[in-house]
Amino acid sequence: MRNLKIDAERLWGGLMETAAIGATPKGGICRLTLTDLDRQVRDWFRAQAQALGCRVTVDDMGAMFARREGQHDVPPIAMGSHLDTQPTGGKFDGVLGVLAALEALRVLVEAGYETHAPIEVVNWTNEEGARFAPAMIASGVFGGAFERDWAVMRADRAGVRFGDALEAIGYSGTERCGAHPLSAFFELHIEQGPILEAEAKEIGVVTGVQGIRWFEATIIGQDAHTGATPMGRRKNALIGAARLVERIDAIALARPPLAVGTVGLLEVKPNSRNVVPGEVFLTIDLRHPHTAVLDEMEAAVMQSAREVCDPLGLVCTVTKIWDEPPTRFDPGCIAAVRRAAATSGYSSRDMVSGAGHDAVYVARVAPTAMIFVPCRDGISHNEAEFSSKEQCAAGAQVLLQAVLDYDRQLAEHASVARMSEATSGAVSPRE
Ligand SMILES: [Zn+2]
Repeated sequence: MRNLKIDAERLWGGLMETAAIGATPKGGICRLTLTDLDRQVRDWFRAQAQALGCRVTVDDMGAMFARREGQHDVPPIAMGSHLDTQPTGGKFDGVLGVLAALEALRVLVEAGYETHAPIEVVNWTNEEGARFAPAMIASGVFGGAFERDWAVMRADRAGVRFGDALEAIGYSGTERCGAHPLSAFFELHIEQGPILEAEAKEIGVVTGVQGIRWFEATIIGQDAHTGATPMGRRKNALIGAARLVERIDAIALARPPLAVGTVGLLEVKPNSRNVVPGEVFLTIDLRHPHTAVLDEMEAAVMQSAREVCDPLGLVCTVTKIWDEPPTRFDPGCIAAVRRAAATSGYSSRDMVSGAGHDAVYVARVAPTAMIFVPCRDGISHNEAEFSSKEQCAAGAQVLLQAVLDYDRQLAEHASVARMSEATSGAVSPRE
């Protein structure tokens, strides 16, 4: 296996070449999904895959599958990510996962290495959700989280529907999204956080993605004149909100190191300098890898809202608007990634992703795991996003080895199954 080596220069060359499609003056990429720039990068991807002898198919959500046949007609082992970006996106978020997969495939083709299962490279449509909400919409339909009919009716701010934009760039395929069984899925991605860099680890073995719960709270008090209303007579909704913001911070801090809790949006009414605020609307974002801890945090938020607001004479209502359970990736895929990092000679650590990824939805229908590589200062969704040539190549190497590891396991299981079939056939009482 040692001769199967990712070409770091070639991978980097592809990253820089595609970065020109939608390049921004500050060195990032603005390549919103289903725009003409998206079409250009898709055309580039298709041409590269076809040059490697792959057959490229597109499903009715625009997800692209570049396939190299294996020795057996079993569902493919897929690897990939997304080629769309944020409006001020970087060169690596998503793109690395697709281009590293393409490079891994190229290494297999050049070596003439025959896999047991077919190998596919996937480009998922609209991972970012910047133009069409929700994010990860194609992998979401693929994994059964969203209905295709609903997804294609999503409109951007200009009123253009997803389905029409997909038709317009010529990437609405015939295969029904989701009717494409996979033996496994591996996604390489930049970490988008600071942990690997801080610990000087080369590879993150991603064991899952944390759960997310979103709440909206409205605190009702009473508008009053700031000069004429004595302090003891006030029902100041902003005081309640301020204390609740502190409590939410404390709730997350009390569950280190993985819990996070954030109030990111406040609307104060009437928002006037000489009116005691009578109403505050705020959002609460709680995240943790374990459902039990999320339950605890949610209960603590509800209790805090009462404890804070009751003595102030305020009425607080908290509504849960989104509950995305934690994702646990497949133990077999995780083990393949861990072994791949070790055999490739890279330092690694297990970690849980703080951000959502296509792999979350694919994991609902196929064994899945992810690989992280460090990015400078943990910065992403930013034109300054950066991972080095060596870091990108390390991720691609681990991706390649993980896929081959998984493929060998499939081959072994198949031969064991054939042997036991043969054995049971020999002693079958019916014969
Ligand atoms: Zn991404």
